[in-house]
Amino acid sequence: MVKMTQNHKLLIIEDSLGDARLVQETLKDTDFRDCKTTLVDNLDQLDQHKKSRFQAILLDLHLSDIKPLDTFRLINGLYPTTPIIVLTGLDDDNLAARIVREGAQDYLVKGTYDSDNLQRSLKYSIYRKKAEQRIAKQKQASKRLKTRADNFEGETKRLESINKTKDVFLSIASHQLRTPATAVKQYIGMVLNGFAGDLLPAQRNYLETAYQSNERQLKIVDDLLKVARIDGGYVTLHKEPINIIALIRNVIEDVSGLAETKKQKIFLETKVPEVVTHADANNIRMVFENLIDNAIKYSAEKTKIKVAVSTTDNWVNCQFIDSGIGISADDQKKLFQKFSRIDDAFNHATNGSGLGLYWAREIVKLHNGEIDLESTKGKGSKFQVKLPVMQTV
Ligand code: ADP
Repeated sequence: MVKMTQNHKLLIIEDSLGDARLVQETLKDTDFRDCKTTLVDNLDQLDQHKKSRFQAILLDLHLSDIKPLDTFRLINGLYPTTPIIVLTGLDDDNLAARIVREGAQDYLVKGTYDSDNLQRSLKYSIYRKKAEQRIAKQKQASKRLKTRADNFEGETKRLESINKTKDVFLSIASHQLRTPATAVKQYIGMVLNGFAGDLLPAQRNYLETAYQSNERQLKIVDDLLKVARIDGGYVTLHKEPINIIALIRNVIEDVSGLAETKKQKIFLETKVPEVVTHADANNIRMVFENLIDNAIKYSAEKTKIKVAVSTTDNWVNCQFIDSGIGISADDQKKLFQKFSRIDDAFNHATNGSGLGLYWAREIVKLHNGEIDLESTKGKGSKFQVKLPVMQTV
């Protein structure tokens, strides 16, 4: 509802004093009676009112020395946010229609309007102008949003393409590196196994060092390949019912040789003889191997590593607990991301790609499971893998 007070102002641009008085008199019988009216009879006088704000303008189209359309354009340019009602002569229908198309809110034919017409026209024009401005603002906002959405789409496409290129690069690089590195491993293995005759102790020594370096290189290439495959969505799981306890015993047996080199003991703690989950045995085995391997790598000699398996209603929890170097709260935030090796002296002395935990988490996610970590710097770490359970015997 438009409520008019003395604070509201109307501008009347009319060069005929009689017509201007008529407008003012008619206004007295309308809701606009309390409004202040400013009367100007030529365009030069407008200079004094340039900065004023009016609720509406009543504009005589036929000012001397200037064409009606130009008059309208000039006033509309000066007061672009104010509704304009043009006052026309009897024969001006076409002209009035044209000016309304140009942006005037309404027109009144001189000598034919009464206070009701004038009030209706003023109210309608004020509402209409406000609505037009709201729509214009909304249009601008949605245009800005569209531009932003277009930019985002472009950026997303660019990043997707970079990511794809990176995946392809990783995959090609890994395959090209793997084949020659495997050949090196086989040939050194043959020489070490006496296929090329007896070796002098020094020769054996050098070759064993070469063999180990080559194994480390192959492990990093394999990590890169595994990550490229999982990122590219090329991992297909072959899920089957597997007994997690048996699988963990097996992994512990496999890595015990490595633990012995550091005089470490790995033991399994569980109250249940068998826990069955629906999982891809190969991939879950590699996840566990990675966690035990890390526990060995990042713990000092003669320490103990515990693997504790327990169950709740729907989950089996496998915990890998070491009393090794631990990980600070800050560094923990970086883990499970690609190439997230922690920057400390101990890490510099050990080998690794920083890809194992990232890959492990992706594989566990594909099993609808979770992997997390509790750790205290200097005291040790506990990695926990939770997998959905099928049945407990
Ligand atoms: P990698 O061991 O090949 O570097 P991972 O992704 O398996 O890669 O591990 C990432 C980093 O997390 C390691 O470089 C190490 O700094 C830290 N980390 C992993 N496991 C442990 C652990 N049991 N104790 C301390 N730090 C660990």
